Amino acid sequence: MKYTSCIHLEHGITFFSTSVQICCISSHPGGGNILQLENYHGEMIDWNKIFEKRNVLREGIRNGKIPAKCEGCYYLKEQEWNTDNYFDEVLIGHWTYCNCNCIYCYTEKDKKFFNSNITYNVYPVIKDMIAKGVLSKNATITFGGGEPTILKEFEDLIYLLLDYDVYNIRIHSDGIKYSPAIEKGLKLGKITLITSIDSSSPEVYKKIKQVPCFEKVWNNLEKYARTKNGLIRTKYVLIPGINDNLTEVKNWLQQTYNAGIHDIAFDIEDNWFKKYRNNIPKYIYVIFDFVNECYRQYNIESCELYERAYNLKIDRENSLKLSSEIK
Ligand code: SF4
Ligand code: SF4
Repeated sequence: MKYTSCIHLEHGITFFSTSVQICCISSHPGGGNILQLENYHGEMIDWNKIFEKRNVLREGIRNGKIPAKCEGCYYLKEQEWNTDNYFDEVLIGHWTYCNCNCIYCYTEKDKKFFNSNITYNVYPVIKDMIAKGVLSKNATITFGGGEPTILKEFEDLIYLLLDYDVYNIRIHSDGIKYSPAIEKGLKLGKITLITSIDSSSPEVYKKIKQVPCFEKVWNNLEKYARTKNGLIRTKYVLIPGINDNLTEVKNWLQQTYNAGIHDIAFDIEDNWFKKYRNNIPKYIYVIFDFVNECYRQYNIESCELYERAYNLKIDRENSLKLSSEIK
């Protein structure tokens, strides 16, 4: 049966530090953040209860009742959906400590608190998902909390997932600490590593990351790239007023290629984007278009647009379509 829904509404689960939600998407008018469990601290989960709750929501969606929190979300699509009960879009983001201090990160406001905030161990919960057969082997498992390589259960968790033969593990790491588990997953071709470098010089890097680790990160990325098999993306989060400079962007593309990396990701700083979404300055489009249209000139094979950049692209396509219809 064809109906409008999204991959997360159908089969998504997100672990945050005190809750379990359906997804982590929030830039659209509805704001996202649909709760599955609140006051959650790593307790074992009754999966049948979660599916019962989810199926009520899914039943409503099949009858055209899209949740208000999903309003305006570009993830909604009309297509055939598999209505079985399983998870194949999993986000692990339950911890906040990090060895970096990005100025655009929500943790920057109170680094001391977020770095000392001890959270639960998600390993037993994921192991239980595997044991109960609710985690699909086709799942995309994304790590995106604080810094994964310093998460206590990280290495064990990666080995558990690799042994289970999940083949699409996405890890957002700042690249400061080298991880043997990531290296193994890359060698097996089961890991995509995404590292936000946001700059092409130690000075701009330090301004954004507030740690002096530019060279160290590139050295680690080069070492990961020697594994040849997995996918590595360097990412650039465009922060107007800080790194909104075409030369910086061009050098980042060149450095990525020089490190033996052939894929990139691009995004725009979240708070700025929410504020200026309807009034994007022209020069931002110039940088956006350059990245989007010229990355192949640097022998880069793919460019993944993250949530804000993807929204910018769709907004633009919609407004161009509208103006051609008016003409
Ligand atoms: S439609 Fe958007 S907000 Fe709603 S569950 Fe899907 S991704 Fe999340
Ligand atoms: S690397 Fe990620 S978690 Fe760490 S400060 Fe930067 S954005 Fe936050």
